[in-house]
Amino acid sequence: MTNDKISVPPLLGGSLEELTAWVVQQGQPAYRGKQLHDWIYHKGVRSLADISVFSKKWRAEVAQVPIGRSTLHYHSVAPDETVKYLLQLADGQIIETVGIPTDKRLTVCVSTQVGCPMACDFCATGKGGYKRNLERYEIVDQVLTVQEDFQQRVSNIVFMGMGEPLLNTDNVLGAIKSLNQDVGIGQRNITVSTVGIPGRIRQFAQHHLQVTLAVSLHAPNQPLREQLIPSAHHYKLEDLLAECREYVEITGRRVTFEYILLAGFNDLPEHAIQLAKCLRGFQSHVNLIPYNPISEVDYKRPTRDRTQGFAKLLKQHHIAVSVRYSRGLEADAACGQLRASNTFTNN
Ligand code: SAH
Repeated sequence: MTNDKISVPPLLGGSLEELTAWVVQQGQPAYRGKQLHDWIYHKGVRSLADISVFSKKWRAEVAQVPIGRSTLHYHSVAPDETVKYLLQLADGQIIETVGIPTDKRLTVCVSTQVGCPMACDFCATGKGGYKRNLERYEIVDQVLTVQEDFQQRVSNIVFMGMGEPLLNTDNVLGAIKSLNQDVGIGQRNITVSTVGIPGRIRQFAQHHLQVTLAVSLHAPNQPLREQLIPSAHHYKLEDLLAECREYVEITGRRVTFEYILLAGFNDLPEHAIQLAKCLRGFQSHVNLIPYNPISEVDYKRPTRDRTQGFAKLLKQHHIAVSVRYSRGLEADAACGQLRASNTFTNN
């Protein structure tokens, strides 16, 4: 038995079987595994020393074993009740998580990396550079943190916070498994958003999950996409769309395409028509996101009329479309505004 802090990985993210194996390895009866699981996932315990159903002696022995919870560094509530959290990880790094309440639902927008290496031109996260991937437990922790703060069960999860999920696929897959089986969130209520990494959508599809894949398209042709997304230089739009088609074939799930509307740049009628052509016959849904301003670049958000006009054109071309007006704008918690800082930008 070892209580060495460094050699023991955090327990959060572990399944019932894994936690049971761990308690047995510690010389405890197997039923303690169920208790541990319950205290970690449903009672939100942050230290093994606080699990009152365990003997005092054993609690003292394992008190230093980390559960893997973050600490709240900063917290701000937007007028629309969206809450932005800055969470501090064990190594001092800070990430952002957003809680979005709507009617009976509570959606959590989780980060998958500290920062992001993709450096998309319109996104605040990319401006701050990249530090590291998040571990499985650091992703699960974000969901528990929002659930505890709202004192309401989380119903939906979107992997749309800081980072590129498919650059951290193993930990994202591990987190999805734990969120599904340990926290109890249905796979169909989970969305993973990616800008697209060559070969990774195909690999992701092989896991036959029931989660929704959202692909950040943002442009209806290769040259325009390259202007917005540096990595597009190494990934042809047609190759990205081919992988998306495979995703639909393998999983039987339609793909969501996200399309940020940047006034005068990619929101012209010809762009809508081109986009409709790209997606013709594709089992998909387009999510239009009017651009949320960030201070470093001077893109503009189109007017509501212009946005609706773009959506209408897509509909006329038989493309399923919805407009997503981001929540949390006033707290800098909307899509693309996450930068792990508590300073407010003047938009
Ligand atoms: N890296 C992943 C997930 C993080 S971004 C991805 O690219 O999909 C989540 C969504 O917010 C993406 O569709 C992203 O393009 C969008 N987004 C980024 N910056 C934005 C901004 N300034 N305004 C609106 N949406 C933005």
